[in-house]
Amino acid sequence: MVSYMGHIDLSNQNVEAQRAAQIHDNIVTVMDKIRVTEHQTGRSSGEVKLLAATKTRTVGEIMAAIDAGVRLIGENRPQEVTAKIAGLQTLCAQHGLALNPKSHDEAKVMNTCVGFHLIGQLQANKINKVIDHVGTIESVDNFQLAERISRRAAARGLTMGILLEVNESGEEAKSGCEPDDAFELACKMATLPGLELQGLMTIGAHVDDEAIIRKGFAHLRTARDAILQSGEQGTAGCSELSMGMTHDMEYAIREGSTIVRVGTAIFGPRAFI
Ligand SMILES: *Cc1c(COP(=O)(O)O)cnc(C)c1O
Repeated sequence: MVSYMGHIDLSNQNVEAQRAAQIHDNIVTVMDKIRVTEHQTGRSSGEVKLLAATKTRTVGEIMAAIDAGVRLIGENRPQEVTAKIAGLQTLCAQHGLALNPKSHDEAKVMNTCVGFHLIGQLQANKINKVIDHVGTIESVDNFQLAERISRRAAARGLTMGILLEVNESGEEAKSGCEPDDAFELACKMATLPGLELQGLMTIGAHVDDEAIIRKGFAHLRTARDAILQSGEQGTAGCSELSMGMTHDMEYAIREGSTIVRVGTAIFGPRAFI
């Protein structure tokens, strides 16, 4: 048994019907909110992808989310990827879904592909735990880490998607590079072999003031646009803006988010972290 702080068996594939129904209903509500906000802001329906943030959740709970229509999941810790990957692969295969497939095109059309991202901090000595299982690492915030992922990916003959994480709020506890460094860092990372720079990521300011939260999101969008329009080598795919969580997803969508990372609104409050 793989436990979470000794309390939860993360690899548990079973989920009670009532719990699965609750997760399903929550996802319907979240997707509805995304569609409404897209519509209100003149964006086309489906432009914003819903990523289920699955930290502390069991394989069974994650599969309930996938059954309800989630096609992108994100883990914070490499240890949780390790604990859940076998169960997720088994259940996805049973449901006719490909988890993090190497070739996306056909699967995407058929909606039979579930993307798997790492969204939490990654220490260099844990790269090997995730490199074969996730398609994108959203939390790359320094060049040395990008180089190390690049070397390992290139050696395996694969391409790892990365997002550059930017600390737009300036809060000290947060990871992410300085906003002023984002352009140069992104362009540098984009040239590395075995990596594909897919966009930028941020965690919204931990405040109640809508204007402050939105300012950070808007700034990230401006940075993304500058990188995308730079014409620098490797930047042509830098289109994603991963921003917005349970409490600020509507603001993020209004500021151009393409991926919202939602945990609490799907699974309920977390007992741990
Ligand atoms: C936990 C987490 C989320 C989701 O947070 P909620 O407030 O539960 O929606 C999103 N992004 C990251 C990086 C997280 O760690």
